[in-house]
Amino acid sequence: MALDTAPAVKELRQILGAKVHTGVPARTARAHDRSHHVWSLPDAVVSCASTEDVSRALAVCFRHGVPVVPIGAGTGLEGGANSSTGNVCIDLSPMTEILHLGVQDLDATVQAGVMKSALNAAAAPHGLCFPAGPGVDASVGGMASTRASGTNAVAYGTMRGNVLGLTVVLADGTVVTTGGLARKSSAGYDLTALFVGSEGTLGIITEVSVRLYGIPETTATAVVPFPTLGAAVSSVSAAIAAGVPLSRIELLDDVMVGAMNSYSGLSLKEAPTLLVEFEGGPAAVSENVSRFEAIASSRGALSYEFAADPLRRDALWQARHDALPAAAALRPGASTWSTDVCVPISRLADCIEETQADIAASDVLAPIAGHVGDGNFHLAFVLDPAVPAVLEVAQAVNERLVRRAVAMGGTCTGEHGVGIGKTSALRLEHGEGVRVMETIKAALDPKNLMNPGKVL
Ligand SMILES: Cc1cc2nc3c(=O)[nH]c(=O)nc-3n(C[C@H](O)[C@H](O)[C@H](O)COP(=O)(O)OP(=O)(O)OC[C@H]3O[C@@H](n4cnc5c(N)ncnc54)[C@H](O)[C@@H]3O)c2cc1C
Repeated sequence: MALDTAPAVKELRQILGAKVHTGVPARTARAHDRSHHVWSLPDAVVSCASTEDVSRALAVCFRHGVPVVPIGAGTGLEGGANSSTGNVCIDLSPMTEILHLGVQDLDATVQAGVMKSALNAAAAPHGLCFPAGPGVDASVGGMASTRASGTNAVAYGTMRGNVLGLTVVLADGTVVTTGGLARKSSAGYDLTALFVGSEGTLGIITEVSVRLYGIPETTATAVVPFPTLGAAVSSVSAAIAAGVPLSRIELLDDVMVGAMNSYSGLSLKEAPTLLVEFEGGPAAVSENVSRFEAIASSRGALSYEFAADPLRRDALWQARHDALPAAAALRPGASTWSTDVCVPISRLADCIEETQADIAASDVLAPIAGHVGDGNFHLAFVLDPAVPAVLEVAQAVNERLVRRAVAMGGTCTGEHGVGIGKTSALRLEHGEGVRVMETIKAALDPKNLMNPGKVL
């Protein structure tokens, strides 16, 4: 029998007034992320503007035993923010205040709902940027919660290394702070690292302190098609081993290049292709471009386009960031399901080639794009409504992909998180380690109210 949340919602209304929404449009708008996973309407949405709002809402839900599901920008790809009947959705998107911009210390503290683009816009006049995270615009709190990263993780790392400290509201409404603005600390357990990547299952992040970086003086992009995927990947490994500084290295398979050509009006050669970005002073960039070109040429690169023009560069990276809609556009009326794994770079070519063989044998359409500099790649399954069995086939391919990646010493998700979609994979990857996670979860969330059913 579904939990009666009416008394909790009534009390939330008394305390938080118009911030509590029960109308269908408001509940629908915040009920799910961008994945294909199941969802249903939450019983109420609480639009929180401050840590205090979140704390008061959680204290009420804790007393009434009502589960809560936090949501930021809702761009997640594994169902982490998906609601179900009987829960209250905690909407962090109104928390848009930039609380501190440390120009000298290269740091910032923001409310959880601040979007990555807004932080960058505020930092840019000071010559600073916040490069970490996904290509799509997302909330800093959501990015911390999924331990996100993106095309430039090879240079700037993931949210794990970029979050300095957090304010977190625990299940019963208690507010705790973790970390701080110091660049290093040996003071006790690393609670920041515990909450980063916990997907709202241990607490709700309301404020995040992050590292900022100087905006590079010069940026250049190269487009390099190869005869084989192995040649592309080995060029990347060789460049990294030779110490050539690369700020972004994206691998696209021939199917993805074709999809991007049609969707974004490009005319790239339909072959395994690297998009490589270099940053720094003009002389250093020029030298690194030449060093990479020599490495790529020695591995049979088919051509080498050097895009210095900012318009061309932006068009190429925008096309890369539009890879998901580009894949969906391959079939009329189709949607996509994006999955990701990450393996040691030495196994990347093997893992992608075995996966491509599986995709071909399974007769499913799934272009591949990857942040090849750190061994992370994505399949964009094209869910064609004209082929009803496609979801089942994609699920089987995904399961084999996860097994393959874990067997190669990798992980079931490099950046999208576990959400609903990868819970069984977590056990495969961590074995008894999952019991330790369950122990931590039970200690911090004894009533299992924090985003239940996600991650574990
Ligand atoms: C086109 C596209 C491209 C993408 N590319 C990338 C990529 O390159 N790299 C990458 O890492 N991801 C990528 N993603 C996935 C997504 O953008 C990231 O997972 C992002 O970090 C989610 O942020 P969000 O604000 O949208 O969070 P949401 O989707 O709202 O939530 C994500 C998870 O975090 C929880 N959560 C949200 N806010 C909080 C909070 N304040 N406190 C506690 N828990 C919270 C939610 O409950 C959920 O479990 C992509 C998504 C799309 C649609």
